Amino acid sequence: MGSRFKRILLKLSGEALMGDQGFGICPNMLTYVAEEVRSIVELDVQLAIVVGGGNIFRGVAASSFGMERTSADHMGMLATVLNSLALQDALEKKSVQTRVQTAISMHEVAEPYILRRALRHLEKGRVVIFAAGSGNPYFTTDTAAVLRAKEIHAEILLKATKVNGLYDSDPERNADARFIKTISFMEVLERQLRVMDMTAISLAMDNQLPLVVFNLKEKGNIQKVVCGEDVGTTIGR
Ligand code: UDP
Repeated sequence: MGSRFKRILLKLSGEALMGDQGFGICPNMLTYVAEEVRSIVELDVQLAIVVGGGNIFRGVAASSFGMERTSADHMGMLATVLNSLALQDALEKKSVQTRVQTAISMHEVAEPYILRRALRHLEKGRVVIFAAGSGNPYFTTDTAAVLRAKEIHAEILLKATKVNGLYDSDPERNADARFIKTISFMEVLERQLRVMDMTAISLAMDNQLPLVVFNLKEKGNIQKVVCGEDVGTTIGR
């Protein structure tokens, strides 16, 4: 089995690292994610990762109880750096070479985001972890993931989630909910399907970046997606 793609951007939400513990980073989950990531690096695919921070801090939530949104978003972006460093450590323990690049400079901790340098790392087979989102408040790491995917010319964005993909209604409330295998960006926007925020979906639509939403909790799923097996929901034109 070989990879269908040469270059991929993987979006991991902060929750993917949280496990069932409700907050922070779960060591077992971190190891699991690192193993899953290694399984696709072994397929000779160039891989970049954008990590979220929702397991630690979300700007929108903090601003809802009175904190200035920009400050809260700065905190959220720093949370993604914590997760990125944890993931880097877990990957290196599995002998996967990585570099973290941050959209907010912190030279002592990680490289700054420099596109050409990121491309060089990818060409050398290093996994590049993009931390601190886009570096701007009022955005999400989903939007940052689409942005970075386009900048590095990734062929696809894989959005790892805890559900199998999109359904036409909530499968937890409606036993008749039907799984959606493929759907257009426009339909996701029109039906306001909450798979990513609208800014991220619009950016992907305007720039023709296909997305696959899949369940990371199913072991081996990520490899299946990369090898072109019929897993998850594909969002495209
Ligand atoms: N954030 C931001 N700008 C960005 C990306 C993230 O301000 O470009 C902040 C925002 O406060 C967000 C938090 O970082 O709530 C964590 O990111 P996100 O909620 O996207 O994480 P995820 O849901 O993927 O865990």
